[in-house]
Amino acid sequence: MTTVTGLSFPGGRIAELRKFEIGEPGPTEVRLRVKASGICGSDLHTYDSERGLRAPGSDRLLVAGHEPAGVVESIGSEVRDFVVGDRVLVYHIMGCGNCANCRRGYPVVCTSTERAAYGGERDGGHAPLLLVEQRSLIHLPDELSFVDGAMIACGVGTAYSAILKTGVRAGDRLLVTGLGPVGLAVTLLASDMGIEVIGVDINARRAQEATRHGAAHVITSTGEQALADVLELTGGAGVEAAIDCTGAAPARVLCIEASATWGQVVFVGVGRSEISFDPTVQLIVKMLTVRGSWVSSMAEMQQLTEMLARRALHPDSLVARTFDISDGVQAYELFADGASGKLAFEF
Ligand SMILES: [Zn+2]
Ligand SMILES: [Zn+2]
Repeated sequence: MTTVTGLSFPGGRIAELRKFEIGEPGPTEVRLRVKASGICGSDLHTYDSERGLRAPGSDRLLVAGHEPAGVVESIGSEVRDFVVGDRVLVYHIMGCGNCANCRRGYPVVCTSTERAAYGGERDGGHAPLLLVEQRSLIHLPDELSFVDGAMIACGVGTAYSAILKTGVRAGDRLLVTGLGPVGLAVTLLASDMGIEVIGVDINARRAQEATRHGAAHVITSTGEQALADVLELTGGAGVEAAIDCTGAAPARVLCIEASATWGQVVFVGVGRSEISFDPTVQLIVKMLTVRGSWVSSMAEMQQLTEMLARRALHPDSLVARTFDISDGVQAYELFADGASGKLAFEF
């Protein structure tokens, strides 16, 4: 056992630094020396909750953080593809490895009770040491930084999978609603693929960021005006594909209504909004496809990591500011206010 200082969420909208005991790796685990760990919007569900972040069926507080990257410090007796010193990132959900969804490469929708998210049902990355199952690890090439790796582990992987699901090709036009970290990642990746990105966000500063990350056009209007703006930019035709990263009803509807005939719409923003539109006009007559996407497959995340290294694309550019873990309490206070942009810890 090694005692480390990590960040936890005891409940009631606070973060707390406390001591954690991190054990030796089990046979199929590695112990990671964490080098970077992202702060994510989805952390705020447990941060805000009364119960906080605790082990299932127990009061034991867990280490928060589900976007870790680091260096393998020690390995279990049955670890095969990783050695001490390897740079890695962590796909942030450990699946059972045997159910149909795990075998499709999607541990995020693992149907077994063994499914456990790092920083969800088991300890996460907001501490200097982390135990990880080898099947959750992806090699991080030397060309990429640890913060790059932390970004890939959640938001950039999510963005990449959504782009692939739209089937967009070079020269197509892609509408991206919501230009937070995931929307910016979609913008960065899609524009590098030769796709004309039209970004939408009511926040002018975020829209400006999207321009910096490759958006061809940005729109800050809402409602009917936003639809009119997209149609004008596309000569009245609409976009070949749209990705909603907000989860908000008006943006979801905009993605559907601004899509061209044969359009492909992917929802990744997880807001609880309900939407209303005319399926005859918007789906049937337009031959539209609308689908959801949650995180990515393991294979997609691995391919993305290798592609980013080859393309010299660095998603660490999406991070507004990094913190030392000793400033973790303030980092979450700032992040919870909602105006900070993407934040991460560096160790
Ligand atoms: Zn995340
Ligand atoms: Zn499974």
